Amino acid sequence: MRDASKCNLCGDCLVNCRYVNYDRDKAIAEIKLLMEGKDAEILSKCTTCIACSSYCPTGADPANLIFRMQEKIGTCPIVVVGKPLCEEVVRAFERRGDPEQSKQSTPDKPALSFDAFRFDYFPEGTFDSQLFKGMTIVRGGQYASLVGYVHMGGESLVERYGQRVLDNPARLGKDIVYIHSEGFVLAHVKAKEYGFQVPFKYMHLFE
Ligand code: SF4
Ligand code: SF4
Repeated sequence: MRDASKCNLCGDCLVNCRYVNYDRDKAIAEIKLLMEGKDAEILSKCTTCIACSSYCPTGADPANLIFRMQEKIGTCPIVVVGKPLCEEVVRAFERRGDPEQSKQSTPDKPALSFDAFRFDYFPEGTFDSQLFKGMTIVRGGQYASLVGYVHMGGESLVERYGQRVLDNPARLGKDIVYIHSEGFVLAHVKAKEYGFQVPFKYMHLFE
């Protein structure tokens, strides 16, 4: 999460960005504009790879600043293309679109959080395979893990709806297995950043 107090305006983040060719002065000027809440060229050039937060030597999370400003300014290509998807997520939460679907199974097995992926995206017989057999499998708009919407101009969605996403599997009273990395990141990383409660044991499918 962005921490402006940690930024010393060194420019390392955007000097090292592989998608622009900024010298240090240009990089610092861009960061300054963003910190003042103004539009800057990087908002349209940024591919949302998140690498600049690794380049930052102080942990100020410049990528988060860029994503917040992309959403606020709203004119860069990533946001324009992603807007309908972000609106769909908001509809799912505010108007209960894409309601929950579940496949119930044996009580002693954990539940698989299937995010908002549709069951029919997967080949017939997938859920009878040895990997998934016996699990309760849940999906729906309100299971969308939200973290990936930073790539579509939806940086604020985690903050707005993250706790609600985590409350859904909590109701199942089971251990949760995440099929999607972003669901795991919501529970394991973003919950700590935003102070969300995660009242269940969880693991990634790979575990
Ligand atoms: S998140 Fe954007 S600004 Fe940061 S390194 Fe990636 S492309 Fe560059
Ligand atoms: S966000 Fe980090 S790398 Fe970028 S200017 Fe600030 S301190 Fe330097």
